[in-house]
Amino acid sequence: MRLEETLSALSAEVSGTRAKGVAAEIARFHRTQASPGYDEALDVVGEQLARFRVATRVHEFPADGRSKTYAWTSPPAWTVRGGVLGQTAPDEKRLVSFDEIPTCVAAHSPGGAFEGDLIHVGKGDTDADYTAADVRGRVVLACGRASEVTKRAGREGAVGVVVYPNDERSATSHDLVEYHGIFPAATDIANLVPTFAVSRRIADGLLRGLSRDAVRLRGEIDAEYTDRPLRVLEAWIDGTDPASGEVLLVAHLCHPRPSANDNASGSAALVEVTRALCGTASLLPLRAGIRFLWVPEFYGTLPWAAAHTRGLEHVRYSLNLDMVGQSPEGIGEPLRVFRAPNHLPTYVHALVEPLLTMVASSSTAAPGGSRRPLHWSYDAPSGGSDHLVFAASPHRIPSFMVGHDDPYWHTSHDTIENVDPTRLQHVVLFACAASVLPQSVADDNRLFGWLLSYGAREFARASALAEGVDPELGHELLDVALGIETRRAETVATLGVSQRGTDLLQRHEVALRGMRDHFAALLPAAPRRSTGTRIHRPTRQIDGPLVYAVTDSFTEEEARFFKDKLSTNHRALAEGLLALCDGTRTAGQIALQLSLDVGRLVPAEDVEAGVALLRKAGYVAG
Ligand SMILES: [Zn+2]
Repeated sequence: MRLEETLSALSAEVSGTRAKGVAAEIARFHRTQASPGYDEALDVVGEQLARFRVATRVHEFPADGRSKTYAWTSPPAWTVRGGVLGQTAPDEKRLVSFDEIPTCVAAHSPGGAFEGDLIHVGKGDTDADYTAADVRGRVVLACGRASEVTKRAGREGAVGVVVYPNDERSATSHDLVEYHGIFPAATDIANLVPTFAVSRRIADGLLRGLSRDAVRLRGEIDAEYTDRPLRVLEAWIDGTDPASGEVLLVAHLCHPRPSANDNASGSAALVEVTRALCGTASLLPLRAGIRFLWVPEFYGTLPWAAAHTRGLEHVRYSLNLDMVGQSPEGIGEPLRVFRAPNHLPTYVHALVEPLLTMVASSSTAAPGGSRRPLHWSYDAPSGGSDHLVFAASPHRIPSFMVGHDDPYWHTSHDTIENVDPTRLQHVVLFACAASVLPQSVADDNRLFGWLLSYGAREFARASALAEGVDPELGHELLDVALGIETRRAETVATLGVSQRGTDLLQRHEVALRGMRDHFAALLPAAPRRSTGTRIHRPTRQIDGPLVYAVTDSFTEEEARFFKDKLSTNHRALAEGLLALCDGTRTAGQIALQLSLDVGRLVPAEDVEAGVALLRKAGYVAG
């Protein structure tokens, strides 16, 4: 069945309104990973799946602050029941409570009560912030990340911590309260103190009070560390042809109440995708199997993936649904699809835009939903979520992410009103169509047209970049592009193409070489470069994505370089750099490959400096 017919069959099954209903149910729970609320949300998903009789299994992993997957330490299981922060002097008033704003208690904060004079330490996330400030017996007010502030404040003798949003995070509202998570290792817990988050408006009031007088706060948090496990829910539909492999879809279910778009929306969309694919199974038998995962972001995904390394060898590509319901009117556009990096090429790269175009033209508005047409962008690779787990070694699966930019991300303002049923409908339809590609495009001759036009655009981008460098480097860049496009086309073989398909593939490769030659003719002639004097080829030592704390071993200057030069798109550049340290590439070759991913020239010197930093952090050898 052709893509258009597949889409129309799926359209009849998909309801954005129903998906929003499931998102609203999930958003009722405070879903810190390994907590009662997370498990209740998992039950909501499980009950939905039971209705359409898809095979499921729940996996458990320790949440003890000790267990490690690669360099990632699992957070401790944690339960919160309440928390109230108030001012006791100069006058008495309540500032914030967990019952009204659940994000006001930082995730993994120890329980307990405190009272003390307030002291402002600025960001409070470096040791230097505490050298001139005596915080002993006091309550620290800071605008840095709670995880960094509370460790330091606790160690210096503070009794409590209150964090507030910086200028950037409070720009859209002075009333939003950010979600902070401490994610302590078991050995860090003794140093932590009860930690609250407040809005900018409340913080500004406290700062005004401090400028006149002493301000005294009292806080109490009812929370404890427990031995509840991290839970991952897996569902799957078997394919009819084991040789076609599998497609993997993932959405993270964790985060505080309500976290509606991040990521009740993705979790509910994935339920609707499962429902639609089960509903059309008799009409559209699946050649490749499909696996669905609801996870605690990173911390559940990593141990699950590590435990299923063999099974993941059959996965051809993966799709991460992360913040997919944003209302075009309430939050803004576009819907963003983030490419898998070019070192993991797949024919799917070339099909994303044709699919989105079909979804935009075939999909109708959900009742009560936005009537705006789908506006999307197809972007450079991004970091920040579970697709990184599958893209990283040892799995190395081409992994895409679907999401939105959202100023209310990780705040109390991420509410269900901003989840749009029409947008969910678009995403569900796209995700469904993207998961059935192994049967819907295998016999579609347009596949080579889509691949060729994608390749032509990639060559044009490479050629534009080549204009800005030495001709010899420019020619090398086109050669790198040719290698990528050739490998991309070769993945068509996983579709089990016919002899005719094999012939088409050969012609396709001739066309790609022709394109390389065409763009090379636009550049000044240059001698072929020798491999050069630098024959150093770094190799990664640790599997899995980079841990957030990778910068801990860096000096301040190194950390700034890492942030400014290598942290583009939520560290996607650094992740790509690490992935390309496979013992076969020099820093110069890595730089060219990364340049094609991000669409700008990445200097080889930046790659060399980046490799040195990753070596310092233990991630790279050689
Ligand atoms: Zn998030």
